[in-house]
Amino acid sequence: MIGYHFAFPGEFLNCYDCIPICMEGVSFFLAALLLHGIEKYYDIIGNWGHPFHTCSAQKGSMGMSLDDIFKLDAIITPTAPCDSTCASYPFFTLKKKYPLIIVDLPFYQGEKGYKYYAEQLKLSLIELGKIIGQDPDFNKMKEAIEIENQVSKLRLELFELIKAIPSPIENMFNPVSAGTSIFISGSSENVDFYKEMLDITKKRYNNKEHYGGEEKIRSIWPYMVTFFDISLCEWLDRELGMSILFDIFNYNFSEPIDTKSDLDTMFYDMAKRGMGWPMIKQSTDFYYPFLEDCVRMAKDFSADCFIYTQSLACKQFGSMPQLLREVLMDEVGIPMLTIDFDVGDARMTSLKTFKEKLSMFVQTLL
Ligand code: SF4
Repeated sequence: MIGYHFAFPGEFLNCYDCIPICMEGVSFFLAALLLHGIEKYYDIIGNWGHPFHTCSAQKGSMGMSLDDIFKLDAIITPTAPCDSTCASYPFFTLKKKYPLIIVDLPFYQGEKGYKYYAEQLKLSLIELGKIIGQDPDFNKMKEAIEIENQVSKLRLELFELIKAIPSPIENMFNPVSAGTSIFISGSSENVDFYKEMLDITKKRYNNKEHYGGEEKIRSIWPYMVTFFDISLCEWLDRELGMSILFDIFNYNFSEPIDTKSDLDTMFYDMAKRGMGWPMIKQSTDFYYPFLEDCVRMAKDFSADCFIYTQSLACKQFGSMPQLLREVLMDEVGIPMLTIDFDVGDARMTSLKTFKEKLSMFVQTLL
């Protein structure tokens, strides 16, 4: 069983006979799916002494591993997207004695950076094989990557339809597609999911239908939705008429990975995909590309507003909301609402508070 940070695309682990466990996926999706959330595990790791203001994406699985809910043979993580990640992972080696492989992810987006990261990916995967006593089967990995190439194509098609007014996709697509990218990437089930979503979306598009009621407001969430309670997505569709066109886990599009040339070319493209991965690109790059992307997306998708959810843990992004608010007003003439929260912990900003803030904000727009 291999634990991995979501910043490491899961399909790359298909070169081994292993069960990949996404540490952040476990935390956030159990927070979303379990009736009483996973606050218990945040408290376990908090009581152990880990700082409360780090990311609940890691704190959940840290607490669960202290409670011996799962045991891992090794963990692999890039040095991204944030300090919170880099400072949290050594816990697993210090306390649980899991071997930890760290893949050094550079800041520089360009040929030099991609070459360096490609080398890092290859070396790290080989090192992982030594720890678990297996030789890497890069042909098997290639098959999984080819499946994800198909998914990328379908996702691009889907996003063209989301530009339509009303948007033909439901808000719940956002957390669910984040889940499929994390838990079933590289599998034929992920292709099936996107094909089915595309079919549903095309039907609605052709009939100019919206899901759940009238679309009154089109919003973009450039960071995250509330994983501690994803019913907010449904409430926004049905009660407020607010579409979440997409959130951070959906608007990153990568070029297909070249699997037909040699292994070095494949790793180079894998590095490009890895460095352009959701949250990685935004959090490791400088602010200008993020601001430019937001302005372009606001125009391309006819957004009426942005909803910026500022997580307690994402300190690298703490100075961003004000800049983004100004640039969206200056360049596109649309407002932005900022809500401070903890993505996985319902106790910081409750669902009730979210609904109140969003309802008040919507009144200023209609
Ligand atoms: S960028 Fe924010 S949400 Fe993402 S892993 Fe880091 S602290 Fe958590």
